[in-house]
Amino acid sequence: MMLARLPVILLLAAFAGACSNGNNSAYHDQFFAFGTLVDVTFYGTDPDLAAQASEAIANDFHTLHQEWHAWQPGQLTATNALLAQLEPFRGDPVVLPVIREANRLARLSGDLFNPTIGKLVTLWGFHDNALPVGTLPDRQAIAALVAQAPSAKDVVIRDDMVSNSNPAVQYDLGAFAKGYAIDRIMERLRSLGIENAIVNAGGDLRAIGRHGNRPWRVGIRHPRQKGILASIEIETDASIFTSGDYERHFEIDGTRYHHIIDPRSGYPADTATSVTVIHGNAATADAAATALFVAGPGHWTGVARSMGVELVMLVDTSGVIHMTPGMQQRIRFEPGISPELRISEPLS
Ligand code: AMP
Ligand code: MG
Repeated sequence: MMLARLPVILLLAAFAGACSNGNNSAYHDQFFAFGTLVDVTFYGTDPDLAAQASEAIANDFHTLHQEWHAWQPGQLTATNALLAQLEPFRGDPVVLPVIREANRLARLSGDLFNPTIGKLVTLWGFHDNALPVGTLPDRQAIAALVAQAPSAKDVVIRDDMVSNSNPAVQYDLGAFAKGYAIDRIMERLRSLGIENAIVNAGGDLRAIGRHGNRPWRVGIRHPRQKGILASIEIETDASIFTSGDYERHFEIDGTRYHHIIDPRSGYPADTATSVTVIHGNAATADAAATALFVAGPGHWTGVARSMGVELVMLVDTSGVIHMTPGMQQRIRFEPGISPELRISEPLS
């Protein structure tokens, strides 16, 4: 069931020879973290070192997930409680760098990636392992939060002191923490002496180093059908992240309500069904996929430029595919799939 939800599936071909029987082969491992299945592959690594590194990063993922969790008690929920008091406080060292980077990306996205809308996400019922069934949040409660317009701009960080001027601010790092964690994990792997690796967390992944003599091919889930829409080539030191309206959603009277909220309306963003971003940095790719999903087919190019993102594919609600020329060069649609394409100007 978990596998059925994966937005991107690393094509099996990429795992050819995925076994640990020598320094030149691939070492493969899997574990659950960040609420999803994480696949780890190392190349040309001593099997003992690989096993040790895999265990270390499984622990790292687990710790980061707890520290940054949006609703289970941890350092982020403690920080949110302090922010609500509207008095300056000394930031928690495990949370501070994450919210600093989230704030920077939020500014670049024009607040379409807005990590301070935790209260809206709570109202929609997504701060729960179970999905809300059959009930919509109160319209007025949504309107009241939208009017308070929580923003990363309300949170000022000087050295390690944090102050907040907006009582509606509540951090939810769900759109970005997985990317940020994968960047951290890659630093950790390098520090352990691992140079060639791919870490794939529920279909969102980053690859470093070499992986044979051909690029990775990554399958992108079709947002409206079973299976894959297309496969995309990524080169080394690249991350690929997808945001989709199929991931966490519920339906009432035939209308789909999903987990990516437009901070300007307080309702799920309704002009895209999936957005895929390739970028060197996983945190940027993750935040940008969410921001461009909210921006939609009419506005994604400006937001992508501002966030420094050049490789994008956006599927709109009519099934039209919008993408950059760089993405078009890397993409191969599945046999029988020939969508209407709109290719943008190059963004750099
Ligand atoms: P993603 O799948 O990376 O697009 O992240 C979606 C998750 O991020 C949701 O489950 C919410 O926890 C949170 N979220 C929803 N809308 C936004 C938004 N506009 N900006 C930042 N985070 C959001
Ligand atoms: Mg994201």
